Amino acid sequence: MKGRSISFRLTLWFSSVLFVGLALFAAAMWFTLDGTLTSARSRTLDRRADRLKDLLDQMRQDPPEQRARKFQAFADATGGGLIEVFNTDGSPFLPSPSSAARAFPWPSPAPLQAERFREVAFSGQPYRVLARPYSSELGRLVLLVAAPLEGSRQVLRTFAAGLLWTIPALLALSALGGYGLSRRALKPVDQIAAAARSITVSNLSERLPVPRTADELQRLAETFNAMLARLESAVNEIQRFTADASHELRSPLSFVRTVAELARRNPQADARSRQAFQEIIEESGKAARLLEDMLTLARADSPAARPAFEPVDLAEVARSVFDRALSLANAHRHVLTFSLDGGSAALVYGDFPTLQRLLWILLENAVKYTPSPGAIRLSLSATQTQAQVTVQDNGIGIAAADLPHIFKRFYRADPSRGQVEGSGLGLAIAKWIADIHQARLSVESSENRGALFRIVFPAYAPTPAPLRAPAAGTRAAR
Ligand code: ADP
Repeated sequence: MKGRSISFRLTLWFSSVLFVGLALFAAAMWFTLDGTLTSARSRTLDRRADRLKDLLDQMRQDPPEQRARKFQAFADATGGGLIEVFNTDGSPFLPSPSSAARAFPWPSPAPLQAERFREVAFSGQPYRVLARPYSSELGRLVLLVAAPLEGSRQVLRTFAAGLLWTIPALLALSALGGYGLSRRALKPVDQIAAAARSITVSNLSERLPVPRTADELQRLAETFNAMLARLESAVNEIQRFTADASHELRSPLSFVRTVAELARRNPQADARSRQAFQEIIEESGKAARLLEDMLTLARADSPAARPAFEPVDLAEVARSVFDRALSLANAHRHVLTFSLDGGSAALVYGDFPTLQRLLWILLENAVKYTPSPGAIRLSLSATQTQAQVTVQDNGIGIAAADLPHIFKRFYRADPSRGQVEGSGLGLAIAKWIADIHQARLSVESSENRGALFRIVFPAYAPTPAPLRAPAAGTRAAR
């Protein structure tokens, strides 16, 4: 039962209760009907025995032939001739009025104190029999009358067949109706869950739909929304703090760097001091880059910080970044190549410098994580619907265990720590840039097999100008 939906469990529970209720009701009805039909039969037999007794009372003075005649006439007029009058020793007091009565399996009339009902089977049919003691100057006799029960049994069978159809039909109807109703009642829960799943730190300002049902569901959605509001303000606080801290640290850091540069150039400084100043310059440069990256990511989560977009030729972006990266690749003795497929332009909707930054991050990583001399390839291909940029290298590659994490902030795969400079923020920024351009950034790599980063952009499609309604009187061409 675990893992089943609430609707399913509710329906199962109510259907089981309904089934037990209906079964009890049907059994009670069946027994009541059976009792009513049987007692109706018994009353008929009772009345018949009363009339037979009256007949015997009247025939006290009659000679035996006349008695037999009267008895025959009575039997012919009553209940199909299933009637007998026996002495207490079992011998017939009057001759059997019919062959059926003769063959009938009458119960033994032996010592009978009070009247007694029995059920017996005759020719495969059930019969109800009344045996009643009778005494007068005719002697001690037993009156026996019988009537078939087949009619009552038939009524019972029809009733049972009716129940057999109506109970499952009622159950199915109520289960379907109950399931449908509970699904409808619980639908807002699914909507709330789907909306809650889609909320991440980047769209914390969104809220769950609140069903106006004035019940637990409405309270649940409102409570979630209040929690989201608190989370949003806490996250905003953290983002503001990171952005402010990075921003505030920029000036003292650039001051340290400027002072170190001036000090290094001082002719009075000795070689060791110059070396120390050089290290300060390098380290403060790294710190400045880290701050810049942190500032970018701190602002990345706020939609207000997104650059303004316009149609941009990705081929131009790639060419400019390629030109800049050539000297870096040469310094590492790598062969850097650029290929362009599918025409000379690849228009996408975006921001030129931000896209440059994205390609730069990938190319710089390829240079950093490829042992010299390596081969790095930047390619761009464009179709009507999309533009694709790939950056491929034959470097150290990325282990399968690291692949799912490399786009996370501050994540660095093990071999790169300590050996290669970096902060672990580059790919997080690249991912953010791809996301705001509605592009898909992915990677294929395995250890020591190089890496292939791919970004697929939707091609820029200018919104078509709205069609003008034809002027009155003009006709469309056929
Ligand atoms: P970093 O500043 O460490 O380069 P990134 O976010 O740019 O940070 O990259 C995250 C991690 O992904 C890197 O530390 C490195 O382990 C791995 N990585 C990124 N690009 C490559 C590549 N071209 N080849 C091998 N590993 C890479």
